[in-house]
Amino acid sequence: MKITVIGSGYVGLVTGACLSEHGNDVLCLDLDPRKIEMLQRGEIPIYEPGLEEIVQRNAAAGRLRFTTDIAESVAHGTVQFIAVGTPPDEDGSADLQYVLAAARNIARHMTDYKVVVDKSTVPVGTADKVRGAIDDSLRERGVALPFSVVSNPEFLKEGAAVEDFMKPDRIVVGADDERAIHIMRSIYQPFQRNHDRTLVMDVRSAELTKYAANAMLATRISFMNELANLAEVLGADIELVRRGIGSDPRIGYSFLYPGVGYGGSCFPKDVKALCRSAQENGMDLRVLTAVEEANDAQKLRLVRKVVARFGEQLAGKRFALWGLAFKPRTDDMREAPSLVIIDELLKRGATVCAFDPVAAKEARRILGERIDYATSPMGALDGADALLVVTEWKEFQAPDFERVKALLKQPVIIDGRNLFDPQTVKAYGFDYDAIGRR
Ligand code: NAD
Repeated sequence: MKITVIGSGYVGLVTGACLSEHGNDVLCLDLDPRKIEMLQRGEIPIYEPGLEEIVQRNAAAGRLRFTTDIAESVAHGTVQFIAVGTPPDEDGSADLQYVLAAARNIARHMTDYKVVVDKSTVPVGTADKVRGAIDDSLRERGVALPFSVVSNPEFLKEGAAVEDFMKPDRIVVGADDERAIHIMRSIYQPFQRNHDRTLVMDVRSAELTKYAANAMLATRISFMNELANLAEVLGADIELVRRGIGSDPRIGYSFLYPGVGYGGSCFPKDVKALCRSAQENGMDLRVLTAVEEANDAQKLRLVRKVVARFGEQLAGKRFALWGLAFKPRTDDMREAPSLVIIDELLKRGATVCAFDPVAAKEARRILGERIDYATSPMGALDGADALLVVTEWKEFQAPDFERVKALLKQPVIIDGRNLFDPQTVKAYGFDYDAIGRR
């Protein structure tokens, strides 16, 4: 099938690459010429495990191409996936300008039937706005052409995006016309050969499903963070509590890890956008409002621990940070808790040296030279007063603690991800603090 993907970021590029892997003829559009030039050279602008080889293999086979030419991209695909950003507006609502611009571009150039697929995360009612934008543009052109609008939210996780796309838990298709549903089913059929995992529903329910999923996950995180903070004052160990509740199949083990708060390009903005949608409809989502407040507070948790040990004024103190990305296996720095932590440390006069296996380049784009960047975990420790663990990269899990101790000025580890066993670390002579651990 001929497919166009509009927006070649984390979601668009993975979507385009994975669809081409199953034999589709895919053209990816982006308005950022730098990104498209890189992709045309076979370079991947983001870090995503496994993506580079799929892109290169399918580009070499001629099934995956990249362009900045809107007319060419509209002419190419019967199916036009919109996978552009939907960042938060000033009031917290999702900013739909990129989605609607993409829709209008399709309408300006289309000459035959198109299925316009909203893959971006968009509030309930967006499909209607997309339909309206296309109708208006077609009317301006004085033409009447058939098209369908489908909601097909994406559930991939950065760091495991290719695997998630290739082996989806479910494929949500919100549509109300049979022609579009049939096309969507045939696109996703190769991704679900053993079980039909497609959930066809009305458009509004599909749009809400995406927000509901992210809101639920964010809620679990904030719940566990608050419980961990409580465990600390009550003298309980959240790690034991986590196992104790996770064993209940109604609860399960996933997403019960306390830490320094959720970040990334999705949870913060999607929680905000859902609260905003509710407000616009005269409702307050009290649980979710609290989830967001708890998360904002949790981002400061590590800093509070630092201040409790070293005092409010941190001039002359240096801190080693392990991890900058909002989670492991990605270079995405959007809304990363590390940014808040670094800001607070610098504000109090400290200096920071950070190491991240892949996100340093992206971090430098945001932070510039306000901090130092090490090229190895150990390199960050030299002369630091404490090690702060911010992202749970696997390679941080079993360090040479003797070396860590020798490099640090003081044997202090403040672990924002509960990576280490407190007994072990203390046996090495560290002063160890974590989130909700005894
Ligand atoms: P991104 O910022 O990485 O990529 C968006 C791309 O769209 C950019 O490269 C931008 O240049 C391009 N773009 C903007 N307007 C355009 C236009 N009119 N035509 C062509 N290209 C245009 O964003 P992302 O992380 O891929 O997220 C995209 C959407 O998917 C968002 O709505 C997000 O909430 C949702 N989503 C993201 C994830 C994730 O893990 N990143 C997961 C599920 C859903």
